Amino acid sequence: MERVAKPYFCPFCGGTNLLADEPMEIQAEEELWIIYHWICEDCGEYFNKVLIIPESGEKPPQKDYWD
Ligand SMILES: [Zn+2]
Repeated sequence: MERVAKPYFCPFCGGTNLLADEPMEIQAEEELWIIYHWICEDCGEYFNKVLIIPESGEKPPQKDYWD
């Protein structure tokens, strides 16, 4: 399952030794959330990226999910 590109570098230290962890899927109302995790081997920081897939398969509405 490679729906989202691996980040090029760690947002904390800029290191490139990133380990991908198992993505976690959360079924929300009319949406599927896939949370990808990465762990930086250089600084040990953990970060993630959320991909939201509407169940209808249509393009997601124009709204900011981060607000
Ligand atoms: Zn790092």
